[in-house]
Amino acid sequence: MAEVIVALDYATGEEALGLVDALGSAGDFYKVGLELFSREGPEVVEALTQRDKRVFLDLKLHDIPNTVARSVSAARELGVDFLTVHTTGGVPMMAAAAEAAGGALTLLGVTVLTSMSVPDVEAVWGRELDSLRDEVVRLAGLAKEAGVGGVVASPMEARPLKRLVGSDLLVVTPGIRLRGDDHHDQARFATPADATDAGADYLVVGRSITRAPDPVEALALVRGQVERSSKSQDGARPGAQAGTATDVTGA
Ligand code: C5P
Repeated sequence: MAEVIVALDYATGEEALGLVDALGSAGDFYKVGLELFSREGPEVVEALTQRDKRVFLDLKLHDIPNTVARSVSAARELGVDFLTVHTTGGVPMMAAAAEAAGGALTLLGVTVLTSMSVPDVEAVWGRELDSLRDEVVRLAGLAKEAGVGGVVASPMEARPLKRLVGSDLLVVTPGIRLRGDDHHDQARFATPADATDAGADYLVVGRSITRAPDPVEALALVRGQVERSSKSQDGARPGAQAGTATDVTGA
């Protein structure tokens, strides 16, 4: 069954750990991103591991292979479980990172940020795209070739990704919104149920939980959807379509 990772997108360690302690045993896997890590550094990771929480360090590394490999080694010493690199850094960079990870942590390749729409990507890459999904799948192919453990993509691409990488790579999807929530800066997003139906292994959920009036209730809602979708998949006939990742506003 897909697991839920709560994104601790907070300005201070105090606020982040306040949420962790409020969620208590309900939350066991947390993502530390650029804002929190830039302000609090390794101490916030240590505070989480001391609480027996698993940590996804989302640094989205993108640099020359040597620099990235050394950063991966440093993160490895912190005892994090997941760490991100950009797939657009290329196979040599990802391969150097994978070698430095050495099985001690799972390296995830970020494909196309979930905040980016087709025109955004076309403007950056300077060419027209037939389909964003094809680009995400192509980048995941590079990640697989480089030997990383998984990829980060939107729920809209989870199904074709699972078809390509099967059980070889984990598929981690941010861009999760409970129905009726503001989508903020996310351009490619879906509900927890649709992301689970599409085959995501891990769902990264930030503002739908962290900005909810009751984060404990919001996490329970997300988990409830994941559990129901997983059960209906288990009961599905072999080969049956489990569903389609759809825009939360359109679903
Ligand atoms: O608040 P929200 O649920 O949109 O947060 C999503 C989290 O996932 C953020 O921390 C963001 O940095 C991260 N992320 C993303 N898209 C990616 C990779 C990571 O939104 N492709």
